[in-house]
Amino acid sequence: STNINTLADEYLRLAYHGLRAKDKSFNAELETHFDANLPKINVIPQDVGRVLLNLFTNAFYATHQKQKAAMGEYKPSVSVTTAQKNDIVEITVKDNGMGIPDAIKDKIMQPFFTTKPTGEGTGLGLSLSYDIIVKSHGGTISIDSKENEYTIFTIRLPLG
Ligand code: ADP
Ligand code: MG
Repeated sequence: STNINTLADEYLRLAYHGLRAKDKSFNAELETHFDANLPKINVIPQDVGRVLLNLFTNAFYATHQKQKAAMGEYKPSVSVTTAQKNDIVEITVKDNGMGIPDAIKDKIMQPFFTTKPTGEGTGLGLSLSYDIIVKSHGGTISIDSKENEYTIFTIRLPLG
């Protein structure tokens, strides 16, 4: 079984350093709230890891885009939380980046939908995440976002 905290920590570093390697001006503040008593769960770690890597990369990217466009004071920030809620493990990824415009909210889970320039995104991350989390693991993905303010992705995975 898998410790989601360890997995999340590992992929957070990977996502952070991946963006840093491409652009040295990237410097989002990272906050983690990992539940120290989180129970291990039965998942395919490589698959859930891919989902987390994409969520973290999307979040960092959204803050970096906003940072590059910001005229005044803006402090890019990403926060990742893990928690147990009854029979589920919840992973929340929150960023204060570009947000998702209402007009595209119903499209972002579709395969190949991306707002990123060629080479920076394939548009496959979220559709793949849906397959992994919902279809293979019986979990859920929920999204809350406000344009130019924040985006919150919540992944819920069943314990049993
Ligand atoms: P990709 O990252 O390759 O574009 P994804 O499936 O991961 O593909 O995401 C699809 C689209 O959803 C992104 O191009 C972006 O428009 C939007 N999106 C996803 N996560 C965020 C986020 N945290 N903030 C703002 N937009 C997001
Ligand atoms: Mg992505």
